[in-house]
Amino acid sequence: MVRLTPPLEFHDQMKPNNEQETEVKKICCPKCKSENIKKRGFRKTENRGKIQRYECKECKNSFVQDNGFFRMRNSEKKITCALDLFYRGVSTRKVQGHFKAFYPHNSSNVSIYNWIIKYSKMISKFTDKIKINNGKEIQLDEMEYHRRISPTKKGVSKDWFIDSIDTQTRFLVSAEYVKSRGKNEITYAFKETKQRANNHIMICTTDGLLTYSDVIKKVFGYRRLQTKEVIHNRVNASRGEGFNIYIERLHNSLRQRTESFRGFHGSIESANSIMKGLVIFYNFIRKHQSIKCCPYELATTLKLNSENKWLELIQISKES
Ligand SMILES: [Zn+2]
Repeated sequence: MVRLTPPLEFHDQMKPNNEQETEVKKICCPKCKSENIKKRGFRKTENRGKIQRYECKECKNSFVQDNGFFRMRNSEKKITCALDLFYRGVSTRKVQGHFKAFYPHNSSNVSIYNWIIKYSKMISKFTDKIKINNGKEIQLDEMEYHRRISPTKKGVSKDWFIDSIDTQTRFLVSAEYVKSRGKNEITYAFKETKQRANNHIMICTTDGLLTYSDVIKKVFGYRRLQTKEVIHNRVNASRGEGFNIYIERLHNSLRQRTESFRGFHGSIESANSIMKGLVIFYNFIRKHQSIKCCPYELATTLKLNSENKWLELIQISKES
Protein backbone atom coordinates (compact mmCIF):
# COMPACT_ATOMS: atom_id res chain seq x y z
CA MET A 1 0.00 0.00 0.00
CA VAL A 2 1.23 3.44 -0.87
CA ARG A 3 -0.13 6.47 0.88
CA LEU A 4 -0.38 9.38 -1.45
CA THR A 5 -0.11 12.92 -0.24
CA PRO A 6 -2.86 14.92 -1.83
CA PRO A 7 -1.62 17.98 -3.70
CA LEU A 8 -2.27 21.39 -2.17
CA GLU A 9 -4.89 22.35 -4.66
CA PHE A 10 -6.92 19.37 -3.53
CA HIS A 11 -7.26 20.61 0.05
CA ASP A 12 -8.87 23.80 -1.18
CA GLN A 13 -11.70 21.92 -2.78
CA MET A 14 -12.86 20.36 0.51
CA LYS A 15 -14.65 17.33 -0.78
CA PRO A 16 -17.56 16.25 1.39
CA ASN A 17 -16.66 12.54 1.41
CA ASN A 18 -13.32 13.01 3.27
CA GLU A 19 -11.57 11.40 0.35
CA GLN A 20 -8.35 13.29 1.00
CA GLU A 21 -7.93 11.43 4.30
CA THR A 22 -8.53 7.93 3.06
CA GLU A 23 -5.77 5.66 1.99
CA VAL A 24 -5.38 5.54 -1.74
CA LYS A 25 -4.84 2.12 -3.20
CA LYS A 26 -1.72 1.47 -5.19
CA ILE A 27 -2.52 3.36 -8.34
CA CYS A 28 -0.01 3.69 -11.11
CA CYS A 29 0.13 5.58 -14.36
CA PRO A 30 -1.29 3.42 -17.16
CA LYS A 31 1.24 4.90 -19.56
CA CYS A 32 4.60 4.70 -17.77
CA LYS A 33 3.59 2.59 -14.70
CA SER A 34 5.02 5.17 -12.32
CA GLU A 35 3.41 5.38 -8.86
CA ASN A 36 4.47 8.99 -8.53
CA ILE A 37 1.04 10.49 -9.15
CA LYS A 38 -1.29 13.13 -7.76
CA LYS A 39 -5.01 13.71 -7.71
CA ARG A 40 -6.22 16.26 -10.15
CA GLY A 41 -9.84 17.24 -9.99
CA PHE A 42 -12.73 15.18 -11.22
CA ARG A 43 -14.10 13.92 -14.42
CA LYS A 44 -17.84 14.48 -14.67
CA THR A 45 -19.83 11.64 -16.13
CA GLU A 46 -23.47 11.75 -16.95
CA ASN A 47 -24.53 8.52 -15.30
CA ARG A 48 -21.74 7.58 -12.94
CA GLY A 49 -21.25 10.90 -11.14
CA LYS A 50 -17.87 12.48 -10.47
CA ILE A 51 -14.82 10.33 -11.00
CA GLN A 52 -11.40 11.10 -9.53
CA ARG A 53 -8.85 12.16 -12.10
CA TYR A 54 -5.10 11.68 -11.56
CA GLU A 55 -1.96 13.11 -13.08
CA CYS A 56 1.35 11.32 -13.40
CA LYS A 57 4.21 13.45 -12.08
CA GLU A 58 6.68 11.66 -14.31
CA CYS A 59 5.10 11.82 -17.74
CA LYS A 60 2.28 14.33 -17.05
CA ASN A 61 -0.28 11.84 -18.32
CA SER A 62 -3.74 12.52 -16.92
CA PHE A 63 -6.00 9.53 -16.30
CA VAL A 64 -8.88 8.06 -14.32
CA GLN A 65 -8.63 4.72 -12.59
CA ASP A 66 -10.42 1.88 -14.30
CA ASN A 67 -12.68 0.30 -11.69
CA GLY A 68 -14.19 -2.03 -14.26
CA PHE A 69 -16.69 0.52 -15.54
CA PHE A 70 -14.37 2.81 -17.45
CA ARG A 71 -16.14 4.56 -20.32
CA MET A 72 -19.44 2.82 -19.55
CA ARG A 73 -22.44 5.06 -20.02
CA ASN A 74 -24.51 3.34 -17.37
CA SER A 75 -24.18 3.10 -13.62
CA GLU A 76 -22.52 0.17 -11.86
CA LYS A 77 -25.79 -0.54 -10.15
CA LYS A 78 -27.76 -0.80 -13.37
CA ILE A 79 -25.18 -3.01 -15.08
CA THR A 80 -24.79 -5.43 -12.19
CA CYS A 81 -28.56 -5.50 -11.80
CA ALA A 82 -28.80 -6.64 -15.43
CA LEU A 83 -26.32 -9.46 -14.79
CA ASP A 84 -28.13 -10.56 -11.68
CA LEU A 85 -31.56 -10.60 -13.33
CA PHE A 86 -30.25 -12.43 -16.39
CA TYR A 87 -28.64 -15.24 -14.43
CA ARG A 88 -31.74 -15.57 -12.26
CA GLY A 89 -33.63 -16.39 -15.43
CA VAL A 90 -34.91 -13.09 -16.84
CA SER A 91 -34.32 -12.67 -20.58
CA THR A 92 -32.37 -9.66 -21.89
CA ARG A 93 -35.59 -8.37 -23.48
CA LYS A 94 -37.42 -8.51 -20.17
CA VAL A 95 -34.50 -6.85 -18.39
CA GLN A 96 -34.68 -4.10 -21.00
CA GLY A 97 -38.42 -3.71 -20.41
CA HIS A 98 -37.81 -3.42 -16.67
CA PHE A 99 -35.11 -0.76 -17.11
CA LYS A 100 -37.33 1.23 -19.42
CA ALA A 101 -39.81 1.62 -16.59
CA PHE A 102 -37.26 2.59 -13.93
CA TYR A 103 -34.34 4.39 -15.57
CA PRO A 104 -34.37 7.63 -17.56
CA HIS A 105 -31.98 6.41 -20.25
CA ASN A 106 -33.09 3.38 -22.13
CA SER A 107 -30.61 0.62 -22.89
CA SER A 108 -31.23 -1.76 -25.75
CA ASN A 109 -31.33 -5.48 -25.16
CA VAL A 110 -28.18 -5.74 -27.27
CA SER A 111 -26.30 -3.46 -24.83
CA ILE A 112 -27.52 -5.65 -22.00
CA TYR A 113 -26.34 -8.76 -23.81
CA ASN A 114 -22.93 -7.12 -24.34
CA TRP A 115 -22.61 -6.19 -20.65
CA ILE A 116 -23.27 -9.79 -19.69
CA ILE A 117 -20.51 -10.99 -22.00
CA LYS A 118 -18.04 -8.28 -21.00
CA TYR A 119 -18.40 -8.68 -17.25
CA SER A 120 -18.66 -12.48 -17.21
CA LYS A 121 -15.39 -12.56 -19.10
CA MET A 122 -13.77 -10.02 -16.79
CA ILE A 123 -14.75 -11.80 -13.58
CA SER A 124 -13.94 -15.29 -14.87
CA LYS A 125 -10.39 -14.26 -15.77
CA PHE A 126 -9.95 -13.85 -12.03
CA THR A 127 -12.21 -16.62 -10.67
CA ASP A 128 -10.86 -19.24 -13.08
CA LYS A 129 -7.50 -19.02 -11.33
CA ILE A 130 -8.69 -19.44 -7.75
CA LYS A 131 -7.37 -22.57 -6.04
CA ILE A 132 -9.87 -25.01 -4.61
CA ASN A 133 -9.80 -26.81 -1.27
CA ASN A 134 -11.29 -29.87 -2.83
CA GLY A 135 -12.46 -33.18 -1.41
CA LYS A 136 -11.50 -36.64 -2.66
CA GLU A 137 -13.81 -36.99 -5.63
CA ILE A 138 -14.39 -34.97 -8.74
CA GLN A 139 -17.03 -35.67 -11.36
CA LEU A 140 -16.50 -34.65 -14.94
CA ASP A 141 -19.11 -34.66 -17.66
CA GLU A 142 -20.25 -32.94 -20.81
CA MET A 143 -23.57 -31.63 -22.08
CA GLU A 144 -24.59 -30.87 -25.63
CA TYR A 145 -25.67 -27.42 -26.72
CA HIS A 146 -26.89 -26.04 -30.02
CA ARG A 147 -25.85 -22.64 -31.22
CA ARG A 148 -27.34 -20.61 -34.06
CA ILE A 149 -24.38 -19.37 -36.05
CA SER A 150 -26.18 -16.43 -37.63
CA PRO A 151 -29.59 -14.88 -37.06
CA THR A 152 -30.48 -15.00 -40.75
CA LYS A 153 -29.00 -18.28 -41.93
CA LYS A 154 -30.31 -21.56 -40.67
CA GLY A 155 -26.95 -23.05 -39.68
CA VAL A 156 -26.74 -24.67 -36.26
CA SER A 157 -23.52 -25.75 -34.58
CA LYS A 158 -23.54 -28.66 -32.15
CA ASP A 159 -21.28 -27.70 -29.26
CA TRP A 160 -20.36 -29.04 -25.85
CA PHE A 161 -20.11 -27.73 -22.35
CA ILE A 162 -17.44 -29.73 -20.51
CA ASP A 163 -17.23 -29.26 -16.77
CA SER A 164 -16.06 -30.77 -13.51
CA ILE A 165 -17.42 -30.49 -10.00
CA ASP A 166 -15.82 -31.12 -6.63
CA THR A 167 -18.37 -33.30 -4.83
CA GLN A 168 -17.46 -32.10 -1.35
CA THR A 169 -17.84 -28.37 -1.85
CA ARG A 170 -20.04 -28.52 -5.02
CA PHE A 171 -17.67 -26.03 -6.58
CA LEU A 172 -17.68 -26.06 -10.37
CA VAL A 173 -13.97 -26.22 -11.13
CA SER A 174 -13.38 -26.42 -14.87
CA ALA A 175 -16.09 -25.22 -17.24
CA GLU A 176 -15.66 -24.53 -20.93
CA TYR A 177 -18.05 -24.17 -23.85
CA VAL A 178 -16.27 -25.83 -26.77
CA LYS A 179 -16.83 -27.11 -30.29
CA SER A 180 -16.23 -30.79 -29.68
CA ARG A 181 -15.68 -33.32 -26.94
CA GLY A 182 -12.47 -34.68 -28.34
CA LYS A 183 -9.31 -35.67 -26.56
CA ASN A 184 -7.89 -32.11 -26.46
CA GLU A 185 -10.96 -30.57 -24.86
CA ILE A 186 -11.29 -33.33 -22.26
CA THR A 187 -7.57 -33.21 -21.49
CA TYR A 188 -7.87 -29.48 -20.91
CA ALA A 189 -10.75 -30.01 -18.47
CA PHE A 190 -8.81 -32.59 -16.43
CA LYS A 191 -5.58 -30.61 -16.42
CA GLU A 192 -7.42 -27.49 -15.33
CA THR A 193 -9.16 -29.39 -12.54
CA LYS A 194 -5.92 -30.98 -11.34
CA GLN A 195 -4.06 -27.70 -11.45
CA ARG A 196 -6.63 -25.86 -9.37
CA ALA A 197 -7.02 -28.60 -6.77
CA ASN A 198 -5.12 -27.95 -3.53
CA ASN A 199 -5.65 -31.52 -2.36
CA HIS A 200 -4.96 -34.82 -4.03
CA ILE A 201 -7.80 -36.01 -6.24
CA MET A 202 -8.47 -39.68 -5.48
CA ILE A 203 -11.52 -40.46 -7.54
CA CYS A 204 -12.43 -39.25 -11.01
CA THR A 205 -15.99 -40.12 -11.85
CA THR A 206 -17.12 -40.00 -15.47
CA ASP A 207 -19.59 -41.70 -17.73
CA GLY A 208 -18.68 -44.46 -20.15
CA LEU A 209 -17.20 -42.26 -22.89
CA LEU A 210 -14.01 -44.05 -23.95
CA THR A 211 -11.87 -40.93 -24.25
CA TYR A 212 -11.95 -40.48 -20.47
CA SER A 213 -9.81 -43.53 -19.64
CA ASP A 214 -6.99 -42.48 -21.92
CA VAL A 215 -7.05 -38.89 -20.78
CA ILE A 216 -7.08 -39.75 -17.07
CA LYS A 217 -4.06 -42.04 -17.60
CA LYS A 218 -2.25 -39.25 -19.35
CA VAL A 219 -3.09 -36.49 -16.90
CA PHE A 220 -2.71 -38.39 -13.62
CA GLY A 221 -0.10 -40.94 -14.71
CA TYR A 222 -0.50 -44.61 -15.45
CA ARG A 223 1.41 -45.66 -12.31
CA ARG A 224 -0.96 -43.77 -10.03
CA LEU A 225 -3.88 -45.63 -11.52
CA GLN A 226 -2.12 -48.98 -11.11
CA THR A 227 -1.32 -48.31 -7.47
CA LYS A 228 -4.87 -47.00 -7.01
CA GLU A 229 -3.68 -43.62 -5.81
CA VAL A 230 -6.16 -42.36 -8.38
CA ILE A 231 -9.25 -44.33 -9.25
CA HIS A 232 -11.22 -43.89 -12.43
CA ASN A 233 -14.82 -44.51 -11.48
CA ARG A 234 -16.66 -45.16 -14.73
CA VAL A 235 -20.40 -45.07 -14.32
CA ASN A 236 -22.58 -46.24 -17.11
CA ALA A 237 -25.90 -44.65 -16.35
CA SER A 238 -27.68 -46.16 -19.31
CA ARG A 239 -26.99 -49.66 -17.99
CA GLY A 240 -28.47 -48.64 -14.66
CA GLU A 241 -25.22 -48.91 -12.73
CA GLY A 242 -25.98 -45.70 -10.85
CA PHE A 243 -25.80 -41.98 -11.30
CA ASN A 244 -23.19 -39.32 -11.13
CA ILE A 245 -25.60 -37.62 -8.87
CA TYR A 246 -23.88 -34.29 -8.22
CA ILE A 247 -22.95 -33.41 -11.75
CA GLU A 248 -26.27 -34.64 -13.10
CA ARG A 249 -28.18 -32.47 -10.68
CA LEU A 250 -25.98 -29.57 -11.63
CA HIS A 251 -26.59 -30.14 -15.32
CA ASN A 252 -30.33 -30.25 -14.79
CA SER A 253 -30.21 -26.89 -13.09
CA LEU A 254 -27.89 -25.40 -15.73
CA ARG A 255 -30.17 -26.70 -18.46
CA GLN A 256 -33.17 -25.05 -16.80
CA ARG A 257 -31.33 -21.77 -16.59
CA THR A 258 -30.04 -21.80 -20.15
CA GLU A 259 -33.54 -22.43 -21.48
CA SER A 260 -34.44 -18.86 -20.58
CA PHE A 261 -31.47 -17.68 -22.68
CA ARG A 262 -33.48 -18.95 -25.67
CA GLY A 263 -30.43 -20.76 -26.95
CA PHE A 264 -27.03 -19.49 -27.93
CA HIS A 265 -26.35 -17.45 -31.00
CA GLY A 266 -23.30 -15.74 -32.41
CA SER A 267 -19.71 -16.72 -31.81
CA ILE A 268 -18.46 -19.58 -29.68
CA GLU A 269 -16.51 -17.04 -27.60
CA SER A 270 -19.64 -15.20 -26.55
CA ALA A 271 -21.40 -18.50 -25.78
CA ASN A 272 -18.42 -19.41 -23.62
CA SER A 273 -18.57 -16.06 -21.80
CA ILE A 274 -22.27 -16.47 -21.10
CA MET A 275 -21.64 -19.93 -19.63
CA LYS A 276 -18.76 -18.50 -17.57
CA GLY A 277 -21.23 -16.01 -16.10
CA LEU A 278 -23.55 -18.86 -15.20
CA VAL A 279 -20.66 -20.63 -13.48
CA ILE A 280 -19.95 -17.44 -11.47
CA PHE A 281 -23.62 -17.28 -10.53
CA TYR A 282 -23.54 -20.92 -9.45
CA ASN A 283 -20.25 -20.75 -7.48
CA PHE A 284 -20.44 -17.28 -5.96
CA ILE A 285 -23.90 -15.74 -6.06
CA ARG A 286 -26.60 -18.27 -5.46
CA LYS A 287 -26.91 -20.15 -2.19
CA HIS A 288 -26.64 -23.89 -2.79
CA GLN A 289 -29.63 -25.64 -1.24
CA SER A 290 -27.89 -28.72 0.15
CA ILE A 291 -24.79 -27.02 1.58
CA LYS A 292 -26.77 -23.92 2.67
CA CYS A 293 -24.11 -21.51 1.45
CA CYS A 294 -22.31 -20.71 -1.80
CA PRO A 295 -19.78 -23.29 -3.02
CA TYR A 296 -16.97 -20.70 -2.91
CA GLU A 297 -17.44 -20.35 0.84
CA LEU A 298 -16.45 -23.99 1.31
CA ALA A 299 -13.95 -24.27 -1.51
CA THR A 300 -11.93 -21.06 -1.40
CA THR A 301 -10.49 -18.53 1.04
CA LEU A 302 -12.18 -15.65 -0.75
CA LYS A 303 -14.40 -13.42 1.40
CA LEU A 304 -17.18 -11.41 -0.21
CA ASN A 305 -18.67 -8.87 2.16
CA SER A 306 -21.28 -6.92 0.24
CA GLU A 307 -24.79 -7.78 -0.85
CA ASN A 308 -23.99 -6.93 -4.47
CA LYS A 309 -21.50 -9.69 -5.09
CA TRP A 310 -21.44 -9.07 -8.84
CA LEU A 311 -20.07 -5.58 -8.21
CA GLU A 312 -17.62 -6.81 -5.60
CA LEU A 313 -16.33 -9.52 -7.96
CA ILE A 314 -15.87 -6.99 -10.77
CA GLN A 315 -13.87 -4.73 -8.46
CA ILE A 316 -11.72 -7.57 -7.11
CA SER A 317 -11.01 -8.90 -10.60
CA LYS A 318 -10.00 -5.43 -11.75
CA GLU A 319 -7.61 -4.99 -8.82
CA SER A 320 -6.01 -8.40 -9.13
ZN1 LIG B 1 3.27 8.33 -16.42
